[in-house]
Amino acid sequence: MSRFFSTKHEKLIPYTPGEQPKDMKYIKLNTNESPYPPSPEAVKAAENEANLLRLYPDPECSALCEDIAAYCKVEKENVVLSNGSDEILNFIFMAYGDNETPFIFPDITYGFYNVFCTVNNIPYEEIPLKDDFTIDFNDYCGKGKNVVIANPNAPTGIFAPLCEIERLAQSNPDNIVVVDEAYVDFGGESAIPLTKKYKNLIVVQTFSKSRSMAGARLGFAVADKELIKDLNTIRFSINPYNINRMTMAAGSGAIRDNEYFEKNRQEIIATREKTAAALYMMGFTMTPSKANFLFAKSDKISGEELYKKLRENGILVRHFTGKRICEYNRITIGTPKEMEIFVNTVKKILKD
Ligand code: PMP
Repeated sequence: MSRFFSTKHEKLIPYTPGEQPKDMKYIKLNTNESPYPPSPEAVKAAENEANLLRLYPDPECSALCEDIAAYCKVEKENVVLSNGSDEILNFIFMAYGDNETPFIFPDITYGFYNVFCTVNNIPYEEIPLKDDFTIDFNDYCGKGKNVVIANPNAPTGIFAPLCEIERLAQSNPDNIVVVDEAYVDFGGESAIPLTKKYKNLIVVQTFSKSRSMAGARLGFAVADKELIKDLNTIRFSINPYNINRMTMAAGSGAIRDNEYFEKNRQEIIATREKTAAALYMMGFTMTPSKANFLFAKSDKISGEELYKKLRENGILVRHFTGKRICEYNRITIGTPKEMEIFVNTVKKILKD
């Protein structure tokens, strides 16, 4: 830290993204990217848009907001776009958090929420998950605090039923309830329809996972019009051009190509189930994942050792060091071929 760095950031520990190694070619099962390319419609639209890069993009993001609104069955005024869903999450923390209105979220969840709180100087509380890694929703009802829930949760992949999300929104009428649905397309059910009934509910989604566009950086939130206005106030105060032209065009191409989206997500779900069955056969314990990853531990090898051995064999998975989860690895679902190699490598490691 230089001597010029503001003391207000003294306690800031930045988020650590998953490794993006450059030393050799790995089978990358560590950052929950899609193993499939984006829709050809998305690629074609981005290529066509490249010619217009001298011009700023539309700060209202009208065309893509309309496409997303049509897909989500809401109005365009219920949608705001962001540079990856990380950005809209940050805008939400900035818009609604302060000393009087802290945030609460589970102790085991997406590791960026507490960083957003710290960087924005917002108090927060991390509420322990139950022993089986599910959320006790009673802990979040009527607490007078803003709530953030990833559903399915990360890194467990556990999906909570929508009646629990509805209970959260209902029991916290004077607070914001945020549902981060980064992984909802792999077997969950979206809370977007509930945003029509609950004016305090914000649903966040991303194009990074089920639409194979992590590198394009595109996320969005759906909520009541007044909340979207708040978020646009923040957006226009930071970066009105937060979505670049090529990403905006690619996003429209991707969301219109429903057939391609369906095919890929079904393939990933099927591969997840097949991989889970193979891991069970080898004695692994897993949370019931509805995401594009598995969260697994073995009683034959420590989480850290398995991570290291897989790495030596050219396979990257994500290992966390937190006390309750250090025996687990989070394994992104790749192509059927990649997962076959993964399963065979685990077998070989366990045998040695
Ligand atoms: N929410 C969750 C739960 C995530 O795991 C991620 C991906 N790391 C994000 C949000 C952010 O994804 P992106 O910024 O790529 O949309």
